[in-house]
Amino acid sequence: MNARKPVILVHGGAGTGVMNAAEEACLRDALAQGYAELERGAPAVRAVEIAIRVLEGSGLFNAGAGSVLQLDGGRRMDASLMDGRDLRAGAVAAVEGSRYPITVARHVMDETDHVLLAGKPATRFARYCRIERQAPPTAAARKAALAGARKLAFASKSWSLLQKMQRAGRLQAACETVGAVALDQEGNLAAGASTGGAGLMLPGRVGDTPQVGSGVYADNEGGAVSMTGRGEAIIRIAVAKEIVDRMEAGAIPNRALQFVLRKLADRINGTAGALVLAPNGRFAIAHTTPRMSAGHWTGKGRPIIADRFR
Ligand code: ASP
Repeated sequence: MNARKPVILVHGGAGTGVMNAAEEACLRDALAQGYAELERGAPAVRAVEIAIRVLEGSGLFNAGAGSVLQLDGGRRMDASLMDGRDLRAGAVAAVEGSRYPITVARHVMDETDHVLLAGKPATRFARYCRIERQAPPTAAARKAALAGARKLAFASKSWSLLQKMQRAGRLQAACETVGAVALDQEGNLAAGASTGGAGLMLPGRVGDTPQVGSGVYADNEGGAVSMTGRGEAIIRIAVAKEIVDRMEAGAIPNRALQFVLRKLADRINGTAGALVLAPNGRFAIAHTTPRMSAGHWTGKGRPIIADRFR
């Protein structure tokens, strides 16, 4: 058998935040654990799940244990996973109480006839699958979220208010969604992503992350993509699928990615970042936000991790 050299890429979100040492170490660990799976011959989809679990479990990112709260004080998380071998996919939206939403998504993919489970039934499904739980938000955290809600007059346009507050330096951006893409020794691709959503979002808001074709896509014949950035814009252009389609039509990862990021900015003023991996192992990481924490490893030397890519 002609084994391929595996590749793995991970991200910890696109936004304005400067990556700190703990986040950098965690991204490194996610690359190492994901790559170890690939090295022992596991499929790409397993490596992606493992890498994302490291990020979710750390509590350092806006995913899994570190997820932000919605304006009513609830913690509702989204995740998705796609296998480029056969285009199987699994996703959850607004799942609560789970430490590893990416594993809930994997169970949806492996054990149901569906692609996406949402809300309370998704939470019940996670419990049924015995995915590790996390404690509900503390009273103090809920109180802070509710105070934020009152400030924003609850049902107003929360995203533009959030941006205004960020610009005024009154709020830390909560953008640290996580994701991964991988290529295994057999030449199979996979993609995944997991998030607590956008900071100060209305209860029930669902972004791009659990939407196959918007937040993630993987097809062995085109490529694998994991998105981060403003979900409301990413969904409207179905960004992940458009990047993969362009690669399937012959574009190299960087060209496909740059084209779609420009389209997102020009047409709807959207900002985002992405991991893009081609079937031949070529890859690209780029963003139109000021920063994006991410890393890649092909098994040679040390993993590369940074919070700016161009
Ligand atoms: N894309 C995520 C969402 O809109 C947020 C992010 O990537 O920062 O839910």
